[in-house]
Amino acid sequence: MRLLPPLLVACLSISMLRAEEQPFLYPQGDSFTRDLADARLKGLALTDYHIHIRGGMTLEKAALRQERSGIGSAVLENFGREWPLSDNAKLKDFIDAHSRPLPNGQRLPVGIQVNDRDWFTRIDPAQFKRLDFILADTMILGVTAEGKPRRLWLPDVTIADPEAWMLAYLAHNLRVLDEPISILANPTYLPPCIAHLHDQLWTEARMRQVIAKAVANGVALEIQAGSDFPKPAFLKLAKSMGARFAFGSNNFDDTAKDLARWFQAIALLDLKPANLATPKLAALPVAAPAPPPLAPCAAD
Ligand SMILES: [Zn+2]
Repeated sequence: MRLLPPLLVACLSISMLRAEEQPFLYPQGDSFTRDLADARLKGLALTDYHIHIRGGMTLEKAALRQERSGIGSAVLENFGREWPLSDNAKLKDFIDAHSRPLPNGQRLPVGIQVNDRDWFTRIDPAQFKRLDFILADTMILGVTAEGKPRRLWLPDVTIADPEAWMLAYLAHNLRVLDEPISILANPTYLPPCIAHLHDQLWTEARMRQVIAKAVANGVALEIQAGSDFPKPAFLKLAKSMGARFAFGSNNFDDTAKDLARWFQAIALLDLKPANLATPKLAALPVAAPAPPPLAPCAAD
């Protein structure tokens, strides 16, 4: 008997589960079916570019979700010093494991989410070239009292002077957008302690700077299923300035997220296919040439 390839076996065994045992598939409710049909009528090909392989999510489940829904699946994992892909060997193993062809011969796009701001100087260029996209957010800035990168979403984050912090945060946003990334996730994110100041801190002038940099560098702006950011004002401004959008879910387990926020954005912005990005890999910066050796000092 010919042995079946392992991925096909995994897909077959997952697809034989009963519906209630498949939380990684979208529930086929009326509103989901209608919203998806409306998006198709507009010619929109939707892809989720923010599917983490964590919390029970797997390549096989992402592939089956794509097959059943028609919404594309692209998978990724975090690359950085204190993250699952903490070095190039782990990155290689991740790409090897997730770029395998599916039983239908296709493969899902494979990316990474980058968390250190010097990631592009540390990544092996040979592994970088094998990726389909790079996703980054702006949610780590500064250091904690212990000297660790400060994760802005944690509940103990406090900010004494929001206006002063915002200036540093805007500069951080622009710096991230200058990295060779494909997608900016969660644009205009704010930590919970100052989220209520959103409209005051994210002035139109600041939003314009972020959007202009994304447009200039060909970085797609994410519309994330489970996030309060970005707000409609940013989305409308971004569309008017020619930005392109990518969809994401940012899962923590294998349960499919409610995509209502995607469909609300599609309706609000009247998105057309040309407004959606097909995220591509940017080029790594060329390493600066080594400085010439110092000339010996002339004795005098
Ligand atoms: Zn993520």
